[in-house]
Amino acid sequence: MSASPWPGVVVRYRERLPLPAGAEPVTLLEGNTPLLPADALSPGGPRLWLKLESMNPTASFKDRGMTVAVTAARAAGARTVVCASTGNTAASAAAYAARAGMACVVVLPAGAVAQGKLLQARAAGARTVAIEAGFDGALALVREVAALHPEIALVNSVNPLRLEGQKTAAFEIVDALGRAPTALVLPVGNAGNISAYHRGFEEARRLGWIDRLPRLFGVQAAGAAPLVDGAEVEHPETVASAIRIGRPASAALAREAVRATGGAFLKVEDREILAAYRDLPRRLGVFAEPASAAAVAGFARLLAQGTWGPDDDVVAVITGHGLKDPGTAEGELGGGEVRRVPAERAAVEEAILGEAWV
Ligand SMILES: *Cc1c(COP(=O)(O)O)cnc(C)c1O
Repeated sequence: MSASPWPGVVVRYRERLPLPAGAEPVTLLEGNTPLLPADALSPGGPRLWLKLESMNPTASFKDRGMTVAVTAARAAGARTVVCASTGNTAASAAAYAARAGMACVVVLPAGAVAQGKLLQARAAGARTVAIEAGFDGALALVREVAALHPEIALVNSVNPLRLEGQKTAAFEIVDALGRAPTALVLPVGNAGNISAYHRGFEEARRLGWIDRLPRLFGVQAAGAAPLVDGAEVEHPETVASAIRIGRPASAALAREAVRATGGAFLKVEDREILAAYRDLPRRLGVFAEPASAAAVAGFARLLAQGTWGPDDDVVAVITGHGLKDPGTAEGELGGGEVRRVPAERAAVEEAILGEAWV
């Protein structure tokens, strides 16, 4: 019996997930995230919703895939989970490994991971390793090591179970809307998540839950846009560290996702990402990390190009929480400084009623 009416992704979607019958779920009750109306960002445009994947237990969508990958790893007898990460995979792997009673090792690009994500991994007791390489180099190395040691479980999105878990977000969107949206817009880094959404919507169509696929739009940062530019990027650069990836492991699946749904890849400048990053909390109360703001920046571009009409339904995926990246917040949110005032009635009165300074 569960104390929660929501049993988590593995139990809720068990019959749609390729897990061995006896595997006991490793869960933090991830999934069931809000689909928040956001029409304020779509003046004269389509109905817009934000899928708040930032509300998962470790505050990113990675938890959906991690519950499935770690459940399978533990059932198979693995003792250690390993990943390379721009941060959120590490935070998620560390938490699910702790829950499972397994060890976790995370391999990170030195100096390139947002502080909150690093703290999450360390808090959960993961062995935390920084190397002088970007994410692509880190992933290549952990893949090599994992191939030599079958007793460790690699939980990057090259593990197909990650995509299986992440496809459940598509099921939830269909459930919440009662139909397929016209389009889904999401940030793309290693390209696992867009591939997972494609799989989920395709499965929903085969099951007769929807009769057409939403167009999938994958948004990359201009300095890390291999899928837009058609060439790997040696030194990817963007403020959005979660998508600072030059050699997406799931590139082929992602291209197929875009092709099969009539979508597209597009790139946005860091300046557009940061504009959306500042807008989201101020206009909607939604604090998202920069990579997630890229989805909203991509939506704004497509809106300006007249991609949709007022009868369309568009979902933008908020992949991770703004609290994960206090460094960028401190530098980029601007305004809203903390004003020190004397602990006196007149000063507090002036602070409350005086001219706004934010
Ligand atoms: C992992 C991640 C992405 C990119 O997802 P991919 O599956 O690597 O394309 C985007 N945003 C956030 C917040 C992430 O953690």
